Amino acid sequence: MRMRVPCPRKGGRHEESAVLTHFIGGGPLAAGKSFPVHDPVTGAVVRHVHEADPEVVDRAVRAAREAARDWAALPVGERAGWMRRLAEGIERRFDDLVAAEIADTGKPLGQTRTLDIPRGIANFRAFADLAAQRPDDAFHLPGVLSYTVRRPLGVVAVIVPWNLPFLLMTWKLAPALVSGDTVVVKPSEHTPGSAAVFAEICAEAGLPPGVVNIIFGHGSAGRLLVEHPGVDAVTFTGSTATGSAIMRTVADRVKPISFELGGKNAALVFEDCDLDRAVEGTARSVFTNGGQVCLCTERVYVQRSIFEEFCGRLAQSAREVEPQPMISAEHRDKVLSFYALARSEGAKVLTGGGVPVFHDHRDSGYFVEPTVVSGLSEWSRFNREEIFGPVCHVAPFDSEAEAIDLANGSDYGLAATLWTTNLDRAHRVAQRLEAGLVWVNTWYLRDLRTPFGGVKLSGIGREGGTRSLDFYSEPTTITIKLEQSDA
Ligand code: NAD
Repeated sequence: MRMRVPCPRKGGRHEESAVLTHFIGGGPLAAGKSFPVHDPVTGAVVRHVHEADPEVVDRAVRAAREAARDWAALPVGERAGWMRRLAEGIERRFDDLVAAEIADTGKPLGQTRTLDIPRGIANFRAFADLAAQRPDDAFHLPGVLSYTVRRPLGVVAVIVPWNLPFLLMTWKLAPALVSGDTVVVKPSEHTPGSAAVFAEICAEAGLPPGVVNIIFGHGSAGRLLVEHPGVDAVTFTGSTATGSAIMRTVADRVKPISFELGGKNAALVFEDCDLDRAVEGTARSVFTNGGQVCLCTERVYVQRSIFEEFCGRLAQSAREVEPQPMISAEHRDKVLSFYALARSEGAKVLTGGGVPVFHDHRDSGYFVEPTVVSGLSEWSRFNREEIFGPVCHVAPFDSEAEAIDLANGSDYGLAATLWTTNLDRAHRVAQRLEAGLVWVNTWYLRDLRTPFGGVKLSGIGREGGTRSLDFYSEPTTITIKLEQSDA
């Protein structure tokens, strides 16, 4: 019954592991062809995984449907109790999850131990607390009482990317489950490992069969899932192109969607900033996770008076960054094609622009150099398209109004960062930016209760706090006429 978990890296190599199976109706299902998953650090095959075909997808959706009625009927306090047990299960299997996540993504151990897996625990606890304490609305008029009850959506398809696999999967799973939905999850084809460990955690916790189902596979499996008539809603994090394809797929059945998509995020650095913090913070926002975070900065605008100094110091920071691998050879080639594009469009390369040489096992992995360029037009493809690598373009501005126009002059609108010590300016500029999230003198600081999401090509809807609970359930308004009596 047990699926094998991935083995930690030893001396840069992985031990053999079994083919990962789907998790359907509370147990493993070994069906469908298998495909390999590669270690981004070395390029070696880490494991093989079954690919969901139409029959597997159908079985997963049916299992979720069968479980839906009983799960929805549980009092929310009981579902919150299950969420807390899953959080405890994650704590118990912490090291296995860390190993799985590192094997698939090549992330540093410290980041995985302090961010990715702890956020999974926090996600389950935060939404358990929130849902259990949430009141329903009631509205009074003379002789009229209206109140709302919230009902689960039913079966939710959860489709997530590879850059923060466990963090993003649990970010959607926890509010969906506590709201009374059952789920079919499709992790990225590049990062199935932590989801497979989570399947074991669900089984070990004794979660009712069918409440959580996990299927593996490529985009084609995701498409089969979202178009299945037994799926009531889709929550998706990934690229804008895929979001758009999913929208078309679900249009006929008008399924509710929640989309967290790509970004082309701007940082605005004003001359009144604390320069040390601005350089350090901007470097972190560009290079964290090899730039493979939707919130990463790719466009940096700096007030002209400090432009030269800022560029020199950011380039120096880039040279000091420990490179992280891109998720796949294909993605590395995409990022390198943007480096080449920058040169062909006439960019000045301040640092990087190539492939690092380590003279060890990493030379067969998927690394690119942290890179800073300048001198390109705002209309260049480099400045308009999401690259999703450790790279940014730096350009000067002269006035606050120009800085705002530059930041807003993008098809995307996920996040923006301001660096200034002027309080008035911070509020003034932040409120004019076309972005779902604005950070002032910091980056990536999150309170899980706040709305999260983007505008324009960066998404539809908001998750986070009660916004998540709103998406994963539907309100029914009940209105009662109260007869007036003088008895
Ligand atoms: P992707 O869109 O290629 O894939 C995401 C998931 O969708 C994968 O599981 C994939 O198999 C699946 N998929 C692909 N085609 C599908 C289809 N037609 N129907 C259903 N599912 C399909 O994205 P990626 O390369 O895995 O992730 C990187 C992207 O995710 C970047 O654009 C990044 O900005 C974005 N992202 C956004 C956020 C956010 O919160 N806004 C967070 C993280 C990542």
